[in-house]
Amino acid sequence: MILLPPKGGLGAQPQGFDFVSLPEGHHVQQIREYLTGSFHRGRNTMKPIIIVGSGLAGYSLLRELKNRQCQVPRVLITAAGGDSYYKPNLSTALAQKKSAADLVLADAAAMGQTLSAEILTHTRVVELDPIHHRLTLDRGGELVYDKLILAVGSAPIRLPLTGDGAEDCLSVNNLEDYALFQEKLTTAHRVAIIGPGLIGSEFANDLLQSGREVVIIGPDPWPISSLIPQAAGQAVQQAMAEKGAVWHLGTFNGAIEKTATGIRTVLQNGAKVEADLIMTAVGVRAETQLASRSGLKTNRGIVTDLFLQTSAPDIYALGDCAEVGGKNLPFVQPLMIGSRALASTLLGQPTEVHYPPMPVAIKTHLHPVITLPAQTKEGHWVFDGQPTTGIVGRFFDSDARLAGFVLTGNRTSEKAEIMKELPQ
Ligand SMILES: Cc1cc2nc3c(=O)[nH]c(=O)nc-3n(C[C@H](O)[C@H](O)[C@H](O)COP(=O)(O)OP(=O)(O)OC[C@H]3O[C@@H](n4cnc5c(N)ncnc54)[C@H](O)[C@@H]3O)c2cc1C
Repeated sequence: MILLPPKGGLGAQPQGFDFVSLPEGHHVQQIREYLTGSFHRGRNTMKPIIIVGSGLAGYSLLRELKNRQCQVPRVLITAAGGDSYYKPNLSTALAQKKSAADLVLADAAAMGQTLSAEILTHTRVVELDPIHHRLTLDRGGELVYDKLILAVGSAPIRLPLTGDGAEDCLSVNNLEDYALFQEKLTTAHRVAIIGPGLIGSEFANDLLQSGREVVIIGPDPWPISSLIPQAAGQAVQQAMAEKGAVWHLGTFNGAIEKTATGIRTVLQNGAKVEADLIMTAVGVRAETQLASRSGLKTNRGIVTDLFLQTSAPDIYALGDCAEVGGKNLPFVQPLMIGSRALASTLLGQPTEVHYPPMPVAIKTHLHPVITLPAQTKEGHWVFDGQPTTGIVGRFFDSDARLAGFVLTGNRTSEKAEIMKELPQ
């Protein structure tokens, strides 16, 4: 373990040092050489694989490389503290009374030790030089890479909110956000959520199950309307309404104004919503800025082929930030499949990513959902079951083949059977 100076260099007012964990046999000098970009010119001629990002994508790739006995040195750089955690747990943690610290599976030092990698925390990569295989750090210094993997994730979409309470609205996309959310909830009981999609509905469920009053606002005709059909969305809506949730669908919020007792917004439909806290959950957008300002091709994500190779040689993208073969899939399963293929590619066995049908589980525990969205809109739904207990919906395409499905409530137990019905 060594200490790195604080951002701004040694002359800066020290606000504490950052830890870098080194695997056995490494010397302090080696990390200094990394930081000056001279590693490859010194005794060790092997340039490292560098991964940017300590989310599920970055760490799962490190794990795959370790499992394959990778002999190339690995460095992971992260703007975050480097704690390993399972992000989907953020939207189910309140009801389980879990703090941000409870969600941490291992800290950066332990991850570096276990996965035989050097981990630079609280360090942002600000520039890439694809021609010279270099990157620049915000704390100063450059690193040279052999292969670079961008696993920089996604960020919540920010709504252009107006009103003096707009700046107090929060969204939860990482451990730090969750810690702040939990702190605010010590005094906030009435929570308004802007965004009735997957993440907004999961947080609404968690808040209800932890005893809060919840209002959900958004233009969608029914909850989670981009992923599930009306019958399934209404089953979720009904189950949460029975626990006290108030849904304002088909409408937009107005300006967010502070009041003597909290926050108020008047909706487009004329309804007045009073709350102690407003959360926005209107989706995430892939982090593409670093890539695009460094000349890499970007679209809805950092554009890659099926080998996860970007438009620049020896630079790959993985996880929420990547648009793989035209698809940006911000879920766990695609990044796990991607990290296995990419580890093989990086170790000399070029391997394409192939996604099987990947159903999405929606953690609205009051009425859970599993869905496989169809890739086409041409077709029709056939439903079976009761909205109060659970429904099964099958989507048949224009050739009458099963192309998607939704299972809700107690019918989610039928996932394995319905997967077998999919055409091979
Ligand atoms: C509340 C919630 C619930 C979810 N539930 C589910 C679920 O049930 N099932 C499911 O499949 N998916 C779910 N998801 C989505 C899933 O969690 C994500 O797809 C996955 O965690 C993304 O991992 P990632 O590593 O690509 O990105 P991230 O976790 O966003 O990690 C990105 C990392 O990059 C770092 N970084 C960014 N820019 C830089 C830079 N310039 N320099 C250095 N570091 C940088 C960040 O600090 C961070 O460490 C959920 C997401 C949320 C928010």
